[in-house]
Amino acid sequence: MAAKLSGPVHPGLMRVGNLDIEVVVVPERNSVRLTVERDARITATVPAGLDRAFLVDAIKGRRRWIYDKLEARVEDAALRPAKQFVTGEGFLYLGRNYRLKIVDEAPFPVGLVRGRMLLRRDCLDQAQDGLIAWYRHRGGAWLPKRAEPWAQRMQAPLENIAVRRLGYRWGSCNRNGGVNIHWATMQLPAHLVDYVLVHELAHLHKQDHSAEFWSVVARTMPDYQQRRARLDRLGALLWLPEGSQQ
Ligand SMILES: [Zn+2]
Repeated sequence: MAAKLSGPVHPGLMRVGNLDIEVVVVPERNSVRLTVERDARITATVPAGLDRAFLVDAIKGRRRWIYDKLEARVEDAALRPAKQFVTGEGFLYLGRNYRLKIVDEAPFPVGLVRGRMLLRRDCLDQAQDGLIAWYRHRGGAWLPKRAEPWAQRMQAPLENIAVRRLGYRWGSCNRNGGVNIHWATMQLPAHLVDYVLVHELAHLHKQDHSAEFWSVVARTMPDYQQRRARLDRLGALLWLPEGSQQ
């Protein structure tokens, strides 16, 4: 069956050349936005009723850019370290590197004590989950205090903030004033966590990535472009284990 060339585009998978594109229809949008996720999925966020042929042309016009991004994602995956959970291995928290120490006794499975990341030996089997839980717990205590002054400055209706597993996104938010930050974000230096926070808080004003959205970000954080570039580069080096995406 031949694909229809024109008519309104529908949400779901669409093939253009050898690319699979996930189409997401957002009625409030007035332009096409293409993104290449960290797992190399390609998403086109489009306005309702957009002509299919128009979208195909738009995607073809940006093919070079898409291939560059896909290539960069492959390099990212090759750079991203796998952890062995052995004494001496480094774990980042807020941009500082803490060396792991496997210990026989500790009152907790994972903990940061006097500059060492302690992991209790009887928890080695669940080392990954234990460390993720630690990032969520420690980050969950640190983050609200960090977010509050930004939220006040931006007059963002922040209701609650949580550190979670968020797949391939650094942060997300919802219409009820909830902001979620990926636990892996807590490995970044604080000034880059700030960028993720400001980005999500700006979404509480504006859901999309329109010019208006970016002007809110720029007003709050004039050097956001440098921080975003750093996040792109550093983000690729962070520990983000397979199977921790949910
Ligand atoms: Zn965003």
